[in-house]
This record gives sequence, C-alpha cells and structure tokens, in this order.
Amino acid sequence: MKRIDHPLGPEELAPGSIFEVTHRGRTMRVTVPKGARYGTTLRVGELMVRLVRRATPPVCHHERVTDLVLSPAGAEEMVDTLVRSTKEGREFAGTCRVRPPAASEISGDEATRTWVIEGFETKVKGSASEVSSPPSDGSPLDWHTHPGLRGGFAGFSTQDERVVDARRRPMTVIGYTALSPQFLTALTIPLGGWGFAASLGLHALLQAEARVQGVDPKILRVGVAARVRFPGGRVLPMRLLDQPGWARVWSDATFHVDQAATKASQVANEAALKAWEQIRKKLPG
Ligand SMILES: [Zn+2]
Repeated sequence: MKRIDHPLGPEELAPGSIFEVTHRGRTMRVTVPKGARYGTTLRVGELMVRLVRRATPPVCHHERVTDLVLSPAGAEEMVDTLVRSTKEGREFAGTCRVRPPAASEISGDEATRTWVIEGFETKVKGSASEVSSPPSDGSPLDWHTHPGLRGGFAGFSTQDERVVDARRRPMTVIGYTALSPQFLTALTIPLGGWGFAASLGLHALLQAEARVQGVDPKILRVGVAARVRFPGGRVLPMRLLDQPGWARVWSDATFHVDQAATKASQVANEAALKAWEQIRKKLPG
C-alpha cells in the first residue's frame, strides 16, 4: 500500500475540514477526523495518508508588525501555559510559533503587518522572577510567563526591558491583567493600588503564596493576557482572532490599566532599591 505525506496548515487540521488527495489521476475528498494531529495516518482508498505540518511561510520583520493575533489554538495554549506555570510557581519561557494570516482570516495591507500566534513552545522552566533566555530556533518571538499569585502580572519589568533591548528581539509576557479576578482576589487591592502592593514587597508575596491553595482553578483561567515588547520600547497586546467589539474595548481597557500599573510598579521598585541603598550606607560595619 502506498504511503504519502499530506501537508496541512494548523487551521486546516480542524475536525470536519476537507482536503483533496490525488492518486493515479483520481481525486479523493478527505474529511479530517476528530482527534487528528500531525503524524496521524488516515486510510484513503488504497493510500495511507500521513498528515504533516506545512512549512510555515515567512512572516514580516518585527519592525513592520502592527497587529498580533492569537489563533483559537494559540489562545488556549497561552491560558494552559500560564495556569501550569502558576500552579508550579515557576516562570516558563520559550518561543512562539508564528505564521502570516490566511486570506480568510485577515486580508489586504493589514495582513502584511500581522503575525498570527499559533502556539507557545516551552523551552525553559526557571525559578519565579528569574528571566530565562530561550535558545533561538528560528522563531521571531520569545515569551516568558509571570506566574500569578506572586504579585506578577502582564507587564514588563525593567529587567525584561533590558533583555529585549540587549537581544534586539521582541518578547512576550504572559500574565494576569491587573483587572483579572485572580489578581484582585489574591491581593485584595483596589484598582490603582498596585504601586502600594509592590512596595509591600516580600510580605505581600508571601501572603499571596499562602492563598494559592484556596484559589478556584477556574479563576486561574480568567484574565490571562499577553503583551509584546519590541526593541526600542513599542508595546502591543495580543488580541483574539474574531474578537467581538465589546471584547476588544475590554481588552484595550485592561491593556491601558496594565501599562499604567507597569509604570507604577517600576517606580515603586526603584524607590525601594534607592531606600535600601540609603539604609545599607548607614548600617554599621
Ligand atoms: Zn518578566
């Protein structure tokens, strides 16, 4: 029996989608069955057809990107990754699988400036708050998590910003937005109180730590967001493909709150460091 490899894009691997195979002048229509993955072999007439990943066409240079869109599979992997990282209490890091949009998804000039995020390859599991450097594998985009319940959220630390500028590669942070129920219930701070929470430092972190056991796992799936920082300082949110209008307004609002919270926490951290310097100078010996 003849075996062939049939290349499929990730969006064509959905159950029920149809592709065509031609063998000995005969064209057969094949429906992708439920549970099909790359590597699945299907019997089609006298053929064995193995589904393989289509080579990804190149995406535009990061300086041109104005829009980052999560495919449904990419969005699910983003949430799964942050929930696992939060449960393990460690930062995860890796690279994104990125492709240009299909014509059915985004068309025209916008398509040439869009990256579709198809998934997140985990390369490194570090300790919390340690920024890990994933090895390069041809992907144009790195990511790392800010696990929840430790005071981390979807914003860039000064250290993250330095890494992006030094490596000249865009970096994604996956974290909880400052408006997520996880963040608000874990730290029970009012909106805008982030600077204060950050200045509480270790005490607040330990308290949040103590509450991790009591948090409903479903809550950990809400309020997950990804932001991308480009070399030079540009920051863009990742949005969902086919996001309804109200959801777009909501995600824009959380994006702006997180940007403000990022500034507040950086200012608080710097103030704490300066204060510590002053104290150290006065310590005996
Ligand atoms: Zn970070």
